[in-house]
Amino acid sequence: MSRPASFLPTTRAEMERLGWAELDVLLVTGDAYVDHPSFGAALLGRWLEAHGLRVGVIAQPRWDGPEDVRRMGRPRLFAGASAGALDSMLAHYTAFRKKRSDDAYTPGGRAGARPNRACLVYAGLLKRAFQGLPVVLGGIEASLRRAAHYDFWGDALRRSILVDSKADLVVYGMGERAVLEIAERLRSGKDLKSVPGTAFIGEAEGAERLPSFEELQASPKRLMEATLALERQMLAGTRAAQAHGGRTVVFAPPAAPLTTPELDRLYALPFARRAHPSYKEAIPAVEMIQFSLTAHRGCAGGCSFCALALHQGRIIASRSRASIEEEARKLSAHPDWKGALTDVGGPSANMWNARCAADPALCRRSSCLAPSVCPHFQDAQEALAELLRALKRLPGLKHVRVASGVRHDLALRSPAYLRALVGEFTGGQLKLAPEHSCAEVLRLMRKPSFKAFEAFLSVFERESKAAGKEQYVVPYLMSAFPGCTDDDMRSLSRWLKARSWKPQQVQCFIPAPGTVASAMYFAGVDPEGRPIQVARTDAQRLRQHRILMGG
Ligand code: SF4
Repeated sequence: MSRPASFLPTTRAEMERLGWAELDVLLVTGDAYVDHPSFGAALLGRWLEAHGLRVGVIAQPRWDGPEDVRRMGRPRLFAGASAGALDSMLAHYTAFRKKRSDDAYTPGGRAGARPNRACLVYAGLLKRAFQGLPVVLGGIEASLRRAAHYDFWGDALRRSILVDSKADLVVYGMGERAVLEIAERLRSGKDLKSVPGTAFIGEAEGAERLPSFEELQASPKRLMEATLALERQMLAGTRAAQAHGGRTVVFAPPAAPLTTPELDRLYALPFARRAHPSYKEAIPAVEMIQFSLTAHRGCAGGCSFCALALHQGRIIASRSRASIEEEARKLSAHPDWKGALTDVGGPSANMWNARCAADPALCRRSSCLAPSVCPHFQDAQEALAELLRALKRLPGLKHVRVASGVRHDLALRSPAYLRALVGEFTGGQLKLAPEHSCAEVLRLMRKPSFKAFEAFLSVFERESKAAGKEQYVVPYLMSAFPGCTDDDMRSLSRWLKARSWKPQQVQCFIPAPGTVASAMYFAGVDPEGRPIQVARTDAQRLRQHRILMGG
């Protein structure tokens, strides 16, 4: 294999410049092509390329016909498609189902470059363009819709995306192992059944049976049972299945997280860390993430509404300190570098190198941190503080910041980390997500107690003063969560007023497909099956939102 391309090819002319007559794998994505490890198509494309495959990327193709996805010709092995970094419906609509006009993953930041339900549309285009070619869906939209799920935008239960689309396979969770195995099996003429980390149409034999789509239609409350079973399956590493009419969607055991050496290899690949040169306009997301660094994957918190944590799983996979330092050195040599490393984190900022000292496959808890930190959970926050300091000492790094959300209950366990975070790595404002103040709402969210947030605030204020810095906590709050009442919102509002805080970041709850919170919203029950009150209509949701926001 020749040396890696400065960008993966996006046109026939670019393929020819690389001397390629055909691709092995074509990746279609709903985001612009930014050659950065935070963009899924670049990450998997570079990973496949490093394993000797010729990969092309078609970003945000036209969807009025198959010509655009055909522009680089038929790939030899398979085509993969993803809606992009977000579920396309979440990217397109607000919490009140109003169309958004902006899209941070598109040149010029304008909406409209990808279709609604992008995975279904892309799979259809690819099947029309390349008859008989295996089509694999992946990314957060496909991953979280792999089983029957509630869809907020259509306000209805939907079938598995595998049944509704023309795709052959859905990759769920992080896709590096699965895409390699798919390529390998196709190269050696094997079938695609039971690739770890995938869902496929097959036989339920030996699998835990989830309630079928038809059973869920007849009894919406059972969506909670199905969602919890699938969540457990991710951790237990087992097989599950769900019937849809005469077809059965089988969920193969999840792929094992990448090991530290594998992650180190992945992040050392030659990403250009820029948007493809064909774009004439800036892509807002690039500004946000160009000089950020991923230290780890996975989140042990298990918050019931979080799509990203569900997608990446509860087991933390971390890069080595040497690999992170090496990437920071490379960033400081980038032509666009301005001196600031804008983030060192992952789905949460302070879980680098955290681990379970027991066997996660036997775990029956839904969160390693809530309602209290599991005795088997081991963090490495002091080492993280040392890592951040080591990065700051590197030549050319004027600032190192932590912008990923800090898990404050965890931070309270390590005074050394807290001191470093507040005194050295907070850029004036620290975003924290207490989400609410009411115990019952926090229990349903699987968030730490509000007392932990208040304790964090006192330490934050004390340490900021000690460091001689004027800086603030920006709390992220949520309205209309299932189980949250108007009175609960008033109680939160009173707390804010008592501190003279004006809420800046309030998100009205959006049920993300596949999450436990979405099952609560749809089924009107908590995870134990007890009925809960749900603000369901737009009027009820808006009322809760306004209690906090005023107006
Ligand atoms: S045993 Fe504890 S630390 Fe391990 S996965 Fe379960 S909750 Fe997390």
